Amino acid sequence: MAAEPSAPEAAATATATVIDGRAVGAQVRERVRAGVEALRSEHGIEPGLATILVGEDPASELYVRRKREACAEAGIRSFHEPLDAATRASELTALIDRLNADPAVHGILLQLPLPAGLDAGAMTARIAPAKDVDGLHPVNAGLLAHGSPEAIVPCTPAGVMELLRAAGAELAGARAVVIGRSTLVGRPLASLLLGADATVTHCHSRTRDLAAVCREAEVVVAAAGVPRLVSADMVAAGATVIDVGTNRTDEGLLGDVDFDAVSRVAGAISPVPGGVGPMTIAMLLENTLRAARRTAEATVAA
Ligand code: NAD
Repeated sequence: MAAEPSAPEAAATATATVIDGRAVGAQVRERVRAGVEALRSEHGIEPGLATILVGEDPASELYVRRKREACAEAGIRSFHEPLDAATRASELTALIDRLNADPAVHGILLQLPLPAGLDAGAMTARIAPAKDVDGLHPVNAGLLAHGSPEAIVPCTPAGVMELLRAAGAELAGARAVVIGRSTLVGRPLASLLLGADATVTHCHSRTRDLAAVCREAEVVVAAAGVPRLVSADMVAAGATVIDVGTNRTDEGLLGDVDFDAVSRVAGAISPVPGGVGPMTIAMLLENTLRAARRTAEATVAA
């Protein structure tokens, strides 16, 4: 009979629970589908999402197609607005203004990046905050930073929070580290974790001794865009690790976390692919439903 492993040996061979983003994403989509059905039957409102794609970037075309397919599955109408790569700023703002005024459109998604010559910040700010289902408008970013429940939250960080909930992570009082400070992921995520009462340390490319900071954390979220940045020696035993990174390399698609090594130390870990990725579109559907629900609430209140 084999001898029982010593405690350190057992820890070294332990395997983390893998947080299944495809399964959690499917639950969110089902929740949205039921919500869409209820909104239609109770208020006669059919949620609608407008997608604007400027130019012919194949990756952007694929993302927009997937978003529209997900809308169709959830019962959300989508209105596709493809524009030529040579579109002028005045033409794009005119389209955004028209969609802002269209009552059948509850959400507007401007696929980024835009071709050179179009200012993504200015165009995003042109979208009515109530229809900004990507949560990138300065008004929504400000509401989130203020801890307001009225904020429309960017889809990827909202998806990370959903994964943490699904993993049963105890956030209140927990030490959480966010790696990355982009307006798309890192900053809103730090606000969300703070709103969930975590003690948040926000790291970035200038952070000194990232490894030591991460080792203190019970929750680590990596959104740096650096393949295998987070190694096993940077993670405390039993920590929950969420990997936002999607890095296309010669070895294939890699996250920001060294999955094989870290999964022997962490308590729970999200994989790449199959972790955060499937959550992003699911949360876009949820944001669109929420924007449409607000229309119903406004009608009832009026
Ligand atoms: P970004 O380039 O805008 O920001 C990266 C951040 O990481 C910066 O704040 C930078 O300071 C920090 N950083 C870079 N190198 C670092 C290092 N060595 N140590 C510590 N911090 C470092 O990127 P982003 O848009 O926030 O995206 C981050 C990653 O998440 C990318 O891989 C991106 O592809 C991925 N992403 C995935 C999804 C998804 O749906 N799964 C969505 C958005 C972004």
